[in-house]
Amino acid sequence: MVPLTYSASPPPSDADLRRLSAQTAGELQSVCRDHGWALHITAGEPANGSAYVQFPPLRVDVAQEIVAGLRRLLNNRCAECTAIKRRRAQAIRDKDMTTAAAAATAMGRHQRAVH
Ligand SMILES: [Zn+2]
Repeated sequence: MVPLTYSASPPPSDADLRRLSAQTAGELQSVCRDHGWALHITAGEPANGSAYVQFPPLRVDVAQEIVAGLRRLLNNRCAECTAIKRRRAQAIRDKDMTTAAAAATAMGRHQRAVH
């Protein structure tokens, strides 16, 4: 499969854009299904050199589920990162620079190991 990019010249043909739309719609539908959202996402028609996918009209309760799911993702930060940051912030408030430095070191170690 040849990767399709907008910056490549010559510009992608409508057929390329339709293929990209179909592929992306399939991927988006698949990842939504894995998430428990049964959405029938379809390829849109190319316009002005861009490829599009179309969402179906969403029932409000489904849209609210999507909002809640995305919010959970945004808020679902790593627990270890959160704990280390909290420890460092508390140490700084306490002017305990030894503990603050140790927390910064621990964060570096954790980031390299886990993220
Ligand atoms: Zn982390």
